[in-house]
Amino acid sequence: MQPTERTRVRRLPERGSYDLDAIRAVVDEALICHVGFVDAEGHPVVIPTIHTRVGDALYFHGSPASRMLRRMKGGVEVCVTVTIVDGLVLARSGFHHSMNYRSVVAFGVAEEVTDPDEQRRALDALVDHVVPGRAAAVRPTTEKERRATLLLRLPLSEASLKTRTGPPGDEPDDYDLPIWAGVLPVRTVYGPPIEDPAMRVAVPVPPHVLER
Ligand SMILES: Cc1cc2nc3c(=O)[nH]c(=O)nc-3n(C[C@H](O)[C@H](O)[C@H](O)COP(=O)(O)OP(=O)(O)OC[C@H]3O[C@@H](n4cnc5c(N)ncnc54)[C@H](O)[C@@H]3O)c2cc1C
Repeated sequence: MQPTERTRVRRLPERGSYDLDAIRAVVDEALICHVGFVDAEGHPVVIPTIHTRVGDALYFHGSPASRMLRRMKGGVEVCVTVTIVDGLVLARSGFHHSMNYRSVVAFGVAEEVTDPDEQRRALDALVDHVVPGRAAAVRPTTEKERRATLLLRLPLSEASLKTRTGPPGDEPDDYDLPIWAGVLPVRTVYGPPIEDPAMRVAVPVPPHVLER
């Protein structure tokens, strides 16, 4: 992907990348994203939401009453950010504290998806994005549910990736200070599954849940 005037990483540009495979990998790993847009009254708003990627398109779904989705459907420019925190960077001064991260910023205009096949594929992909393998294990979406869902597609065609890795970068003299410094890795860990108390049928926890 080529950088554009608005995706060119300015500060610490060596941390920026436009590698589509690397961008796809971060988008796929992140559970959620944030969608920024200007509302009908002209105010900037940033809303957290679930996304998925199929090929080089991002998909967003929800109630047709959602302000975010209605606004996107209306053709406003959106800015989607995806953030994964990999570590807390503890330096010898507050100034040089930082985080290790991988983040994507993508711009574009979304379009409503009305084709039933694309809708089914994207809705399954949204479920599988959260728990891979889940879509094939659940009751298929009904026509009524499909009609009650607004689905939007945003091309992943103008985006940047920024990555920070490694230890803190302290002032040269500060390395003599008796202060612990380093990185505290951060990762997402799922706890043991908690069965729905309303389960009427005894079903073992499936592998796609245990493996998440
Ligand atoms: C978890 C986390 C914590 C951060 N904490 C801070 C902080 O406390 N203070 C701070 O100043 N910065 C922080 N950043 C970095 C911040 O995201 C910006 O990169 C930074 O503000 C420099 O922006 P800029 O002025 O160079 O570019 P801008 O002019 O703001 O951005 C130009 C273009 O560069 C690209 N870009 C900029 N930043 C990112 C990014 N993070 N990921 C992907 N593309 C990007 C976008 O396409 C953007 O449109 C943090 C980032 C992350 C992910």
